[in-house]
Formats: sequence, structure tokens, C-alpha cells
Amino acid sequence: MTATAAWGATAPESGLAPLTIDRRNLRDEDVAIDIAFCGVCHSDLHAARNDWGRTTYPLVPGHEIVGTVSAVGSGVTRFKAGDRVAIGTIVDSCRHCDACVDDEEQYCREGMTGTYNARDRVDGTTTYGGYSKSIVVAEPYVLRIPDGLDLARAAPLLCAGITTYSPLRNWGVGPGSRVGVIGLGGLGHMGVKFAKALGAEVTMITTSPEKGADAQRLGADKVLVSSDKAAMKAATRSFDFLLDTIPVAHEMTPYLQLLDRKGTLCIVGAIDMLPSFHTGVLLMKQGSVAGSGVGGIAQTQEMLDLCAQKGILAECEVIPMDGINAAFERMEKADVKYRFVIDMSTL
Ligand code: NAP
Ligand code: ZN
Ligand code: ZN
Repeated sequence: MTATAAWGATAPESGLAPLTIDRRNLRDEDVAIDIAFCGVCHSDLHAARNDWGRTTYPLVPGHEIVGTVSAVGSGVTRFKAGDRVAIGTIVDSCRHCDACVDDEEQYCREGMTGTYNARDRVDGTTTYGGYSKSIVVAEPYVLRIPDGLDLARAAPLLCAGITTYSPLRNWGVGPGSRVGVIGLGGLGHMGVKFAKALGAEVTMITTSPEKGADAQRLGADKVLVSSDKAAMKAATRSFDFLLDTIPVAHEMTPYLQLLDRKGTLCIVGAIDMLPSFHTGVLLMKQGSVAGSGVGGIAQTQEMLDLCAQKGILAECEVIPMDGINAAFERMEKADVKYRFVIDMSTL
């Protein structure tokens, strides 16, 4: 075991503070990584505050991890010391169920092992995330950062990136698709970039009119302010695909009214009970409400390679480790432009 510096929460209201965790000794298939940067996902905030009621403390969040390999186990074949690598939200799964065989480890029938707040499948210890100096992960769950990708700006690709790329790809978004991305935060800003890169006509749907100019700079063709009733009415039945990144429970009807015939609203944000809505809003146009969770390891690598090829990166505000509590407060107020990334050299 290696004692490792980290930051974590010890109770729902504790905020985050320094603590020491143990990283395991290398198993044959393990890769040890020195963490350079870690993105700050809204899920980290939900988990630290126990919003979903299943946090075990202490909790060390962080699942947008980039860094360099420091050592490898005897069975590792694809990585060596010095390689630039990344870890996302998944550090293990059963590896044999239909979902795992289909490269959709996030939907593993035995439950994927999360990067934090999960139980290691071998020894039952708690997994701790990337708000720390180093991490040890089995080779099949380690991603390669292609040459040329800026490390800090690549970090958010590991969750915000794949969580938006995956549904856009899986629902066949491409040229001719009319896509609306709801919520311009970490996920939303990557959603706009990917939808644009895939050739869609993209509308940013936001509660923050002041983010409109940024949305267009990020690639949005149009901006729709959700509090503007006249503009929302004018946009009725004008979208094929809506990507809903809102982090809290919210009314569905105003957004479902925007779907055109055979359109889909895909929820990637709130894990919560949502208010009811009248089914007519779906029945009368063959509409769908769907959900999507992150993305599998193979698709994450595909996305990283595409980002390197097309120069797609997150817009980041790099912060020191001790800036995390202030960053959480700003994130809660939707004051994020557009992803906080922790510089781990400050820990
Ligand atoms: P974020 O950076 O905080 O962005 C969320 C954005 O949603 C805000 O910037 C804001 O954009 C909008 N918003 C916030 N409160 C709202 C409200 N009450 N009504 C309408 N819009 C609101 O969060 P994030 O990191 O992108 O994460 C978003 C959600 O996705 C979180 O709940 C997170 O847990 C979840 N998540 C899910 C997965 C998955 O696998 N499905 C993966 C990662 C994260 P505007 O100012 O533009 O309105
Ligand atoms: Zn996340
Ligand atoms: Zn499985």
C-alpha cells in the first residue's frame, strides 16, 4: 500500500479537506498513474453532498483524470512508464456479461465499478477518485491520451466529453439533425462542440441569456433562452434530438414540446424524480424520452482520438486543489465557464 495525499469529504456538509488514502500495491494487470489534472464534474458535488443517498465517507471524488504512467504490473502490455493516460468514470466491471462484451461496461449487469464511492471487485476496498496525487487502475480501463492533446483541457473529456458524445453517436446525430443542448455547463458545452463536429444544426437552450455569445463561439448556430415564453413557443416541434444536462429535477413539458415528429429527448443530467407530464406531448408525434450513462471504454478511446484529430477540447478554468470548495459553490450557481480542472501539482 502507498499512502497518498488526497482531498475528500467526510460528511454531507463537511466540504472538502485534505486527507490521506491508501493506493493498492500493483496487481499483474495494474497501471499506476501520477495524476496531473482532474476535472470537476457536477456528479462530484452530488456525491460529496450525498444527493443520491448512497455516498460512503470519506469520499474522494474525481473521475476526469489525466496523468502519466509511473509503473506497470508484470502482465501489462499496452502501457509503459511515461505514457500519457486517462481514467474516466469506470475502473472495473464483470468483463463477461452481454453489456461488457458489447463494450458498454457502464451498463454491466453486475454493476460497473465506479472510479470513486464503489467497492473494488477483488479486495472489497473503497475506490477513491482523482482528487489525489496518484491512482492504480487495471489496464483494460486505462485510456490513452493521443499526442498533441493538451492534458488539462483533455481531462473533462473523460466524463463531460463521453457522456455527451455517446448519446449523440448512439442516436445517429449527423448532418441534417436539429439538435438542442439543454444547459450550458460542463456537459452542455461539450455537447455543443460534439453535435457541431458531427454536422448537426445546434441550438443552445439555456436559462442564462448572458451565456448566449459564448454558446455561439463554442459552435451553436442558435440560442434559445428557456425563460422566454414567446421564443419557446416559436420553437415548438423544431428539434429531432434534445440532450438534457440539467442537474436537478425540472419540468419536462416545455422541452418535450420542442420535439418534432419521432424526436427524442435524452436525459443525461438529473438522477431524480421528475414532475409528471401529459403523455399527449409524446403520443401525438411518436416522441421518446430516453436516458444515457457516460460511455464504454472503447467509445471513450474513439472520442479521445477524434478530439485529437479535430482539435476538440474543453474550455477550462484551472484551479488549485484548495480552490475546490469555492468551485463547488460556483458550480451550484451555474457559474462555470465551462469546466473547473484541478492542477494536481498544487496538492
Ligand atoms: P454543470 O457544469 O453544473 O452544468 C449544468 C448546467 O445546467 C448549468 O450550467 C445550467 O446551464 C443548467 N442548469 C443548472 N440548474 C438548472 C435549473 N434549475 N434549470 C435549468 N437549467 C439548469 O453540470 P455538469 O457537470 O454538466 O453535469 C450536469 C448533470 O449531469 C449533473 O447532474 C451530473 O451529475 C450529471 N452527469 C451525468 C452523467 C451521465 O452519465 N449521464 C455523467 C456526468 C454528469 P444554463 O446556465 O445554460 O442554464
Ligand atoms: Zn462526471
Ligand atoms: Zn459486465
